[in-house]
Amino acid sequence: MDRVFLVGISVAGISETFDLTELGRLVKTASGKVVGEKIFKIHRQNPALCIGKGQAEELAAIVADLKVSTVVFDTELKPRQQRNLEKMLSAGIIDRTRLILDIFARSAHSEDGKNQVELARLQYILPRLAGKGVAMMQQAGFIGVRGPGEKQIEYDRRKIEKRITVLKRKLKTLAKRRKLRRSKRIKSGIPIIALCGYTNSGKTTLLNALTKARASAKDRLFETLEPLTRRTKIFDRDVIFIDTVGFIRNIPPQLINAFHSTLEEIAPASLVLVVLDASDPAVKPQKKIVDETLKELGFHKIPRIYAANKSDKEKIFCSAGCVKISALYKRGLEELKKHIYEAVM
Ligand code: GDP
Ligand code: MG
Repeated sequence: MDRVFLVGISVAGISETFDLTELGRLVKTASGKVVGEKIFKIHRQNPALCIGKGQAEELAAIVADLKVSTVVFDTELKPRQQRNLEKMLSAGIIDRTRLILDIFARSAHSEDGKNQVELARLQYILPRLAGKGVAMMQQAGFIGVRGPGEKQIEYDRRKIEKRITVLKRKLKTLAKRRKLRRSKRIKSGIPIIALCGYTNSGKTTLLNALTKARASAKDRLFETLEPLTRRTKIFDRDVIFIDTVGFIRNIPPQLINAFHSTLEEIAPASLVLVVLDASDPAVKPQKKIVDETLKELGFHKIPRIYAANKSDKEKIFCSAGCVKISALYKRGLEELKKHIYEAVM
């Protein structure tokens, strides 16, 4: 397995308390093994290296010492910074955007999802093309860039631009089809409940617990990329549940479209059921990101219920205003159903 070192950047003045837990989980999801991490304090970004020259030298020593194969930066790197760092550290350099793109590529199964991810990937590659307009990219995943004998594919600018046009056209057609399906669902008059929340909070597990769905729920970020719809009964009434892609802080700009198109499915919902991982110490900032994203998308007027999931765990960090549940052990679900029933009937 690939040996990964995490790097955080803390810019002086912007007193952002940095935490690399989430980045570590993203790396784990991409099958990388984290062997260490460090946060570098900087005053401003060095245009050539992002971090300072001395810091880069320090990092090079760590990389050699720990036999690190890939360094993952919790920020977006300029193409030049990435190239320089790769040379200086003799290790693969991956930024946050590229990491998330890789994970998305693994999670996309539908035609729509695959097209969205390919488009986002090409949009990421385009400004990173080297001199002659050619970029070499690993075909299978970005982690493990230095893996021996891995297949490389060549991209050139003209081909990429052409492909981007084709993909955009395809996605438009698919969006129309989705819209049609959605309007059918609305016409049926059955209340729609959208499951929203940070990635890995337990949305899919809850969907499975509330309906007869057998969707894949795993301890991996972005296991669900395409919205999944299931019809079921809450007491005597029919309802439709929609499982959506998980939220995350700082969504890479290339992925915002992919995100938004899957989140469009929330629009006709009568209720947003926010699933929080109450056992995560970062539950509060995560709740804030969910609230902000819903607002950005214009869904803040849809009534909302908060479920504090994983409350079976020993330490719980939120409860006020939340319905305490455990989707995994099917606890608190009757209480939750009562709340849902009252909200949508
Ligand atoms: P999603 O990304 O929000 O869809 O999250 P998943 O449903 O895929 O769940 C992520 C992980 O959390 C999985 O490993 C689940 O087994 C675990 N999980 C979900 N609900 C609970 C719960 O109530 N208690 C505990 N202990 N784990 C849970
Ligand atoms: Mg899921």
